[in-house]
Amino acid sequence: MENPETISQIDDFARQCIHSQNHPGDYHKFTLFKCNSCKSSSFRITIEHHTGSEEWNFRGIIWGECAGCGYLMRLFTFTGEQRQRIRDDRPECECGNRSFIAGMCERFEGEEGIPGFFDEGVIVGRCTECSRKRAFVFTD
Ligand SMILES: [Zn+2]
Ligand SMILES: [Zn+2]
Repeated sequence: MENPETISQIDDFARQCIHSQNHPGDYHKFTLFKCNSCKSSSFRITIEHHTGSEEWNFRGIIWGECAGCGYLMRLFTFTGEQRQRIRDDRPECECGNRSFIAGMCERFEGEEGIPGFFDEGVIVGRCTECSRKRAFVFTD
């Protein structure tokens, strides 16, 4: 298990990435990814881009290989039947490490306090070695 302070730092960083302060009426939901097998949140990430994937509008699949037990799982899928796989990215921290504590923040348009339509989201990670944080992909 990750400590709550680490999780709230990643949560804060993710909210900043999608400018949550500019959307005070909307609902933001942070999810820490967890290995289905050992519950660790540290993953080696592979970003599989599909056709139509753009910097601010990702299409494809994000895979996480658990840094604890090696279990490989889909962390996030946003694609369609007709889309083709075009390339894989294997993000590495500036320190050379490939394991990140990873999570996702999604914004939903608020309608009188009831969470509404999905607006924007981001998938982020924090290096398990040097604690540097980064955004991997944005969805819109
Ligand atoms: Zn695991
Ligand atoms: Zn690092």
